[in-house]
Amino acid sequence: MSENSERVNLLNFDRDGLIAYCESLGEKRFRAVQLLRWMHKHCVGDFDKMTDLAKSFRAKLEASCEIRGPVAIRDKISSDGTRKWLFDVGSGNAVETVFIPEDDRGTLCISTQAGCAMGCLFCSTGKQGFNRNLTTAEIIGQLWHAEKTLREDAGVTDPADRIISNVVLMGMGEPLQNLDNVIAALKLMLDDNAYGLSRRRVTVSTCGLTLQMDKLAQAVPVALAVSLHAPDDELRDMIMPINRKHPLADLMAACKRYLAHAPRDYITFEYVMLGGVNDSIAHAKALVKLVKGVSCKFNLIPFNPFADSDLKKPEAATVKAFQDYLMGQGIVTTIRKTRGDDIDAACGQLAGSIKDKTRRAERLAEQKARATFLIKEEK
Ligand code: SAH
Ligand code: SF4
Repeated sequence: MSENSERVNLLNFDRDGLIAYCESLGEKRFRAVQLLRWMHKHCVGDFDKMTDLAKSFRAKLEASCEIRGPVAIRDKISSDGTRKWLFDVGSGNAVETVFIPEDDRGTLCISTQAGCAMGCLFCSTGKQGFNRNLTTAEIIGQLWHAEKTLREDAGVTDPADRIISNVVLMGMGEPLQNLDNVIAALKLMLDDNAYGLSRRRVTVSTCGLTLQMDKLAQAVPVALAVSLHAPDDELRDMIMPINRKHPLADLMAACKRYLAHAPRDYITFEYVMLGGVNDSIAHAKALVKLVKGVSCKFNLIPFNPFADSDLKKPEAATVKAFQDYLMGQGIVTTIRKTRGDDIDAACGQLAGSIKDKTRRAERLAEQKARATFLIKEEK
């Protein structure tokens, strides 16, 4: 199907949207739910194969609709089993999706934007600049394509045998900057007639857009990971420009409001450890003070370097000491393992291919100046 197709792409609809659309075609709700199950439970993209749908309904769908996920233009498997797809999203843009198999789970890391406008200093997506928000079809289409392909490769035919058990919105982009499309995709992930994942097995990661955190809590309170990366505003302003708009006090208040919607939950604070910049015990001490009163865990992510990143990896012993300090203060703290190293699939290394629409040269020069300042300050 061509990119400019006039057909209605059914992957853009969550359950309510699909029901409304089918009703507009003169079809009953239960027919829409049957269709939903074929698309997302059985991962079928071909109307011909939807054998229990009335022939007349199938004919209508054939005439005006399509089920079109993003097209994979690269598919690489790492020696540790991690798999990375590069999906074409048109106009020269491509985004990445990563599958991480583990003994007790299979996690898919999904992208939500072509690029990212947040400009965090340590992130290769941020360096690429921003092109546009992904559509709901492009977001859920990553899960649809991955589950379909993994099942085909493993010879799994029973839809009850899900290969992907967890989804994290930690790929390219800032999910909460694309809230409407992300919410529709999340609803499909949780829907029993679609992917049927539990609320706690789906995680949205944000750099801290406080207003949108409130909206997410109202709409679909899934697990929330917040990228913290610094214990005070001065340092966080340097590392993450968004902090100048939503400083730490506002962010902590937003975390508490989020938890009020999901009382038995906790926030996962992600903390990228940048060698010599934010990895001292003094930083860890300040963090403990900062998060007091927020039910939380920490996930330490040793910085993954990429071309021109200017920043340094932390020492392994420093990361361990940081973890021990937080644990000693009663905060559950894990260190994220690097997976898919040989295919550049690690956290923060997803680059895809982005036709930047922002003032890239200016932004890069400004980022370089900030990185140089931080590294010098430590010496
Ligand atoms: N925009 C969202 C989600 C995508 S980034 C966010 O910022 O939370 C997912 C995680 O990868 C974030 O915690 C981010 O800080 C981290 N990350 C980005 N670049 C990294 C790098 N080079 N090394 C390690 N982690 C990185
Ligand atoms: Fe965007 Fe997240 Fe990267 Fe920051 S870390 S630039 S918010 S993708």
